[in-house]
Amino acid sequence: MDGQVKESVTHIGQRNLDGIRLPIYLDNHATTAVDPRVLEEMLPYFHEKFGNAASCNHEFGWTAEKAVALARERIARLIGAKAAEIVFTSGATESDNLAIKGVAEKYRSKGNHIITAVTEHKAVLDSCKRLEKYGFRVTYLGVRRDGLIDLEELRRAIGGETILVSIMAANNEIGVLQPIVEIGKICRERGVIFHTDATQAVGKVPVNVHGQNVDLLSISGHKMYGPKGVGALYVRSGVPAVELSGLIDGGGHELGMRSGTLNVPGIVGLGKACAIAAEEMAGEAKRLAGLRERLREQIMGRLDGCSVNGSMEQEHRLPGNLNISFADVEGESLLMGLNDIAVSSGSACNSGSVESSYVLKALGVSEELAQSSLRFGIGRFNTEAEIDYAAGRVVETVKGLRELGSLGG
Ligand SMILES: *Cc1c(COP(=O)(O)O)cnc(C)c1O
Repeated sequence: MDGQVKESVTHIGQRNLDGIRLPIYLDNHATTAVDPRVLEEMLPYFHEKFGNAASCNHEFGWTAEKAVALARERIARLIGAKAAEIVFTSGATESDNLAIKGVAEKYRSKGNHIITAVTEHKAVLDSCKRLEKYGFRVTYLGVRRDGLIDLEELRRAIGGETILVSIMAANNEIGVLQPIVEIGKICRERGVIFHTDATQAVGKVPVNVHGQNVDLLSISGHKMYGPKGVGALYVRSGVPAVELSGLIDGGGHELGMRSGTLNVPGIVGLGKACAIAAEEMAGEAKRLAGLRERLREQIMGRLDGCSVNGSMEQEHRLPGNLNISFADVEGESLLMGLNDIAVSSGSACNSGSVESSYVLKALGVSEELAQSSLRFGIGRFNTEAEIDYAAGRVVETVKGLRELGSLGG
C-alpha cells in the first residue's frame, strides 16, 4: 500500500530541477494534499471495514460506528468541544448553509435579522442572500483597510431582531484572522447566536469554542490535509444550547440535523487530520510563518511597487498566507509567466469575463491592483527550496513584464 501511495504522488511532478519538483503547489487555501498518514488510516474503511455506522445489529456496523466515534472525539478535542456537539457534513459549504439556514428557520419567531461581513466566503454570503428572498434582513459589515471588521460597527448593527452573527475566523484570500474572541463576547452579551466559518483556521491556529464564545463553527476536511467531501459543524449544547432545523430530511442521522448515511472513510480521515493538527500545529505554524516571511522578504526586497493585502500583524494573519499586489503588471500575463508555480490570482474568470476579487475590493484595493495580485498559500509539504525558487520566478516574471510594458509592448 505504501509504495502505491508514494507513486501516485510523484505522478503529478512533470519536471525536476535541483531536487525541486515542478510545478510547485502554493495554493493551499484552495485545497491541500491528503496527508499520507490520513490516507493510510482511511483505506481499511473502503473495503474491509465498509459497514454502515447506523447498522446497530452486527459487527460491520459497530466497527464503523466505533471509527466515527473516535473521529468525533478527535475533532471535538481540537476545537475544545464535546464529541456530541459535532455534526458531520459534506464540507464547509454545507456546514455554512446548515448553520445559517438552520438558525434562520429555527429562530424565525425570535427575529429576522442576520449580520455578516462583505469578505465572507460565498457559502456564507449566498446563504444569506437566499434568506433575503424569504424575508430576512441581512447587514453586510464592511471591513477596514487591513481586512478586519470594526467591532463598534458590529455592536451598533445588533438590534432586537438580530438572531445570528456569522463572521469567519480566517479569510481564504488574505488570511486575515478576525477578532473572534471579542465578536463572541459581544454576541453572548446581546444573546445573539455566533457562527464562524473556521475552515481556514482549524488546524492552523488555535481554536477553542468556549474561550472564543462560538456557538456554531464550520470545518472542512480538504483544507487541513484531510479528504474532500467531508466536513463538520460544531453545534453548541448545554447552556446556552443552539438548536438547528436540518436542511436534509431522511433517516434522522446526526441528531436529526443532517440525515444521510455517514461517509465513514471521509470522517475517519477528517478525524486523523485533526489528531495530527493537534500534535503538530504549534511547530508547524512557526515553520510556515518563517517560510512566509522568507517569501515576502525575497519578493519585496527585490521588487518595488508591491503591497501586501490584509493585516500583517501576527495575531491577525494565517501563518501560511501571503497576498501581494504588483503595480504596473497585467494580472493575466503575470499568471501565464508563472506557469510552473500553482498560485491563485486576485481575479476569477467567470464565463470569459475577468472579475476582480470582491475581498480585495472590500479592502479598498483598486480594480487594477486587485487583478495583478497573487495569493500564496504555503502548506505542510512546502520546503524552503521551493519558496526560494518561487520567489525567484515571481521577481524575474514581474521585472520582465515591467520591462516589456515600458517598451510599449
Ligand atoms: C474552502 C472554503 C469553504 C468551502 O469548503 P468546502 O469543504 O470546499 O465546501 C468555505 N469557507 C471557507 C473560508 C473556505 O476556505
